[in-house]
Amino acid sequence: MHPIKTGYFLDFDHTLFNTDEFFHRDVRDSFLRFGIDAKCWEESYLAVWPTGYALEKHVEEICRRSGEKLPLNEMKQIVRDSFSDLSRYLFPDVVPFLEAAKEAEAWLGLLSFGDEGWQRYKVTSSGIDTYFDQMFFTAGEGRKAEVVLEHAREFRRIVVVDNSSDELDRIKDAVPDARTIYMNRVPDELTLPDSEVSRLKFLEARRYAGKVSRYWHDVSKTLHGILSV
Ligand SMILES: [Mg+2]
Repeated sequence: MHPIKTGYFLDFDHTLFNTDEFFHRDVRDSFLRFGIDAKCWEESYLAVWPTGYALEKHVEEICRRSGEKLPLNEMKQIVRDSFSDLSRYLFPDVVPFLEAAKEAEAWLGLLSFGDEGWQRYKVTSSGIDTYFDQMFFTAGEGRKAEVVLEHAREFRRIVVVDNSSDELDRIKDAVPDARTIYMNRVPDELTLPDSEVSRLKFLEARRYAGKVSRYWHDVSKTLHGILSV
């Protein structure tokens, strides 16, 4: 096999998809109507996240902390009914980029960390799953580098786009030739302290934006221009 294509490995949360707006604002709001304490919602989320988020795990953790039994089935129903079309949470440059990449015959891989069922639901409900040649869902932090390394020989060039500099550092360790692009979707004006509403809108994305990386990664706020470079 002669590797000719450029392979793009694209992260999903905070890179293609405004997870903060979807999850920390809209899903949270609909769940707080069940009487869940906002602080408990946030803390229990942080507790389950490292093992790969899933709604079930989150609700179990909230129950454990509050000592209450919550209507999990009803909560799931809310997600299914109110959040079946998630395309509105995609950043506006995503579909044009994916279209252009297919046009250029690039290979597209989705490389996402988290519980497979939950991640797949978000990607599929956003309507972009059909663009990808392959989708990878890693269960542990740091596993993305293994996936890129496994496929490194299949491509002439590898480009990885992620909002986590830790993940990009580990990918550089494993595949030094890969071009790594650090995606920062947080608007400059929102890096400053602000109101509760805008705090939630980029809640998690901002935590990533404050990290220091070991390698030099290209920094971008958009997918525009990535294909041509
Ligand atoms: Mg991400």
